[in-house]
Amino acid sequence: MTPIETPTHSITPSVTPALSPTASPAATPKPTPDTGISDAAFVRVLEYIPDAKEYLMYATKDNFTGKRIYDFQQTYLRYGTVKKLAAVVEELKGKGLGILIWDGFRPVSAQQALWDICPDTNYVSHPVTGNRSHCRGGAVDLTLFDLTTGKQLVMPSNFDDFSSKADRNYSDVSTEAAANAVLLETVMEKHGFKGYSKEWWHYADEKEYDVDDTFDPSIPVVWEANCDEYINLRRSANTTAKVLAKIYKGSTFTLLEWYGKFAKVEYKNKIGYVMSSFIKPSFTIDPDYQTEAKGAFLDALSIVEQTGAYSYEEMCRDINAICNKYSSIAKTEAIGRSEEKRNIPVIIIGNKNAKHQILIQGGIHAREHLTSWLLMSMAEYWCIYNITDYDDVCFHIIPMSNPDGVVISQTGKLNSSQLKIYQNDKKLKYTSFSQALYTEKWKANALGVDINRNFPAGWGENKDERKAPSSELYGGTAPFSSAEAKALRDYTLKYDFDVTISYHATGSIIYYEYGNKEPVNSLSKSLAQSVKSVSGYILATSYGVDGAGYKDWVMEYLGIPSVTIEIGCQEAALDKRELYSIFVRNYKVMPETIRWIVSNQ
Ligand SMILES: [Zn+2]
Repeated sequence: MTPIETPTHSITPSVTPALSPTASPAATPKPTPDTGISDAAFVRVLEYIPDAKEYLMYATKDNFTGKRIYDFQQTYLRYGTVKKLAAVVEELKGKGLGILIWDGFRPVSAQQALWDICPDTNYVSHPVTGNRSHCRGGAVDLTLFDLTTGKQLVMPSNFDDFSSKADRNYSDVSTEAAANAVLLETVMEKHGFKGYSKEWWHYADEKEYDVDDTFDPSIPVVWEANCDEYINLRRSANTTAKVLAKIYKGSTFTLLEWYGKFAKVEYKNKIGYVMSSFIKPSFTIDPDYQTEAKGAFLDALSIVEQTGAYSYEEMCRDINAICNKYSSIAKTEAIGRSEEKRNIPVIIIGNKNAKHQILIQGGIHAREHLTSWLLMSMAEYWCIYNITDYDDVCFHIIPMSNPDGVVISQTGKLNSSQLKIYQNDKKLKYTSFSQALYTEKWKANALGVDINRNFPAGWGENKDERKAPSSELYGGTAPFSSAEAKALRDYTLKYDFDVTISYHATGSIIYYEYGNKEPVNSLSKSLAQSVKSVSGYILATSYGVDGAGYKDWVMEYLGIPSVTIEIGCQEAALDKRELYSIFVRNYKVMPETIRWIVSNQ
């Protein structure tokens, strides 16, 4: 395992910050010629044209295919195209009108998905031989709305109408619809776009860019240092590698890819690695149009707040709020009660009778409570973006399997028997921590049982097993002796789960092996590779010494493909600033798991 880079590396007090001019939060980039951005660069349209609205039809089922084609919700186009579109918006503003974008950049994979459903070159460009203007980042599908009322103007047809009404011969539509379509056409053409004869809503930049098959709009491109002072840009993904540059707080850089605990980035023409802890996406959403933009990443959430100490009470409150707001897709119940009689809630997103059932649990180790926050954030996000649009799936998310332990870690309070556990751990030299630090780092349940060592798969056989209740590493008097392990067992047996995912912290690594049964080990490895493809977490090279965990039991006894995902870079409990990169690296695990299940059934 790579050594942990402690936060002190980024907060060295002796260095004077030398912020670059672009780092000022007030310096919102505008499409002027001196931005230093090349015309071919992909940018988020609403970042530069905040007056536009976007509702990407192919990010929903609300399109002719009836299926979700891609899973990003923000429009991206080439910067050169955005400059032209900004001129369009400026001119329309004078007429009291705005633009609503239905589609922009489309990955080649999305073009392929459309072609698979509609192999007709009149309406879908061939994914290999066609012009594929949307895959070039210069095409936009759009309509007009009234800036005063917010209402869309009457147009010749709906989006993706394949009838003759949609074409640019407007003789078969109302005078009003024809006039509006002509107005859009006139302004778009004036500023360098050309229309498509069969679709009034489609415009392509006259300048044609190459088809891009690498850009992934679901990952933000521009990030900034979110540290106290600076982060180090290193030559390789290693905390001892040569420092190429210091990136000061607020300075921006381009994310290239994730690699374990690191992000590979480009900063001032230098490519290197930074720890992914203290960075965040650099754009912000104007709250005035957030509902229209539907937000981006964490900005999309309105229920789950960004906190480094997500409490049991907040979780219960937020689960109720999510289930009220999204009552048609989200339900909650208790999987059982903890030793201290707290309900352990599950949030069920989707149909319990769906073909595919997925269990995701976190917070089984108390100090790893950022996993509870993450699972709740993912639950809200995918309620907003309706993950149940994907056919036949149901997610069972248990954000906090160990609520009593989380309360100990967050409040620092020990009862008299827990105090005795602390005294005993000190006596046996298991800890030299102060009581405050000891409680913060608590992993076990209220009775000092490590729930993730309380399952019957190699139970009691771990080399570092403790013999008495402790803050960690004690497996209990027998498998399933803890109320929490029983609750997880009973709930897991209630459904026919396709996969289980356990969230832990930290390490930015994925564990996927246990024992030697097949095909469950091979399938778990394949699932782990899928998780890696979206998160950039690395696969553990061996399953190591641990057994008796939840994942070990479901693999060994139930044969369910399963992985353990260790989020974060620093030591648990994690720093709040890690949550930005953690969210971006994990939110796609849910749709990716669906994709994996469907391709492996
Ligand atoms: Zn853990």
